[in-house]
Amino acid sequence: MATIQDIPRDPVADLAIDTRLVRGATRRSGNRETSEALYFTSGFVYPDAETAEAAFAGPEDGWIYTRFGNPTTAMLEDRLALLENAPAARATATGMAAVFAALMASVKAGDRVVASRALFGSCHYVVTRILPRFGVTTTLVDPGDLDQWRSALRGGAAAILFETPSNPMLDLVDIAAVAELGHAAGARVIVDNVFATATEQRPLSLGADLVVYSATKHLDGQGRAMGGAVLGDERFVIDELQPFLRHTGPTISPFNSWVILKGMETLGLRMERHARSAGRIAAFLADHPKVQAVRYPGLDSHPQRAIARRQMRRGGAMLAVTLAGGKPAAFRFANALRLADISPNLGDAKTLVAHPATTTHANVAADERARLGIADGSLRLSVGLEDADDLLADMERALAVA
Ligand SMILES: *Cc1c(COP(=O)(O)O)cnc(C)c1O
Repeated sequence: MATIQDIPRDPVADLAIDTRLVRGATRRSGNRETSEALYFTSGFVYPDAETAEAAFAGPEDGWIYTRFGNPTTAMLEDRLALLENAPAARATATGMAAVFAALMASVKAGDRVVASRALFGSCHYVVTRILPRFGVTTTLVDPGDLDQWRSALRGGAAAILFETPSNPMLDLVDIAAVAELGHAAGARVIVDNVFATATEQRPLSLGADLVVYSATKHLDGQGRAMGGAVLGDERFVIDELQPFLRHTGPTISPFNSWVILKGMETLGLRMERHARSAGRIAAFLADHPKVQAVRYPGLDSHPQRAIARRQMRRGGAMLAVTLAGGKPAAFRFANALRLADISPNLGDAKTLVAHPATTTHANVAADERARLGIADGSLRLSVGLEDADDLLADMERALAVA
């Protein structure tokens, strides 16, 4: 029986990221399949009671039950770890399960979490509404203001959580600088790298302790499967995170693991196209008279462009555009688009557009929205894989209507 510990060091671990994405962590079964096998099973059987006893005594030594581990999910986890040269990774049912588990395995009653106020809506809910019920206090800071991070961390903190670029306005956090402040305060530094993806930015190499992903987004990349992941140091993952996941059960389906594992093979190729098209669209929108502002980390007009240059390889697939005509113009533009679908999802092959003020961030108070730069005319664009000229023509036509 192949066991978790039999796995040798991956032969592609030292090769380029695109090679790791295609070939990393492939474990062939005795059937010599080309494509990674899907072990769509909840349990595993043993040749005799003694083997079962041994498996339960040390669950690292063999497969027991898919909530504890699954060979397809293990391939996904090891490929995810290879993405950022992380010592260990664990997959979860959704991105939120990953964020929640990373936090819950890091804090206890009486602790404090310092987080960026520019957080994905559900992350905001977890740190401001759920954690306080268990005696964990939260301090929110403006993502780009190092003085605020410094003073919030003065009293110490158990964990730091931020996104960079943030959803939806593409604010950046200086990962290396905030990680240093966090470590001085004794905090575990958790970075949500969903908007950038690992091809654009590697937070662990910049000092973060944990990286969390919604695999639902670009890792799958085709809008099919929900999933999430936590990447980080082995001691934390094995001793703290894994027991939390095994006993509370936010387990990813082996089927979803397989879909995402196969999706990762094309991540490098897709991100190259996503970023090239997003860059062209951002430049086009920035020059348009009906556009008030564009936020894209790859544009020189981004207020934190220097940070983007330091920590990102390209600008990624996401951008925010604020139309001069407010909500009516934003709605007319979104409604007139023929190629972009109106959807709160992102990271799909299909271009998607969302109006954060009335959807993803509708339950954020208006003054807080204003503080985050989310105007009534703001739209978030997840640039897809369609031909960029077709997308530009569609946007030009829709802006004429707006
Ligand atoms: C989507 C998203 C999440 C949550 O992921 P799910 O897979 O939807 O649970 C967390 N953070 C960011 C930045 C996201 O975009």
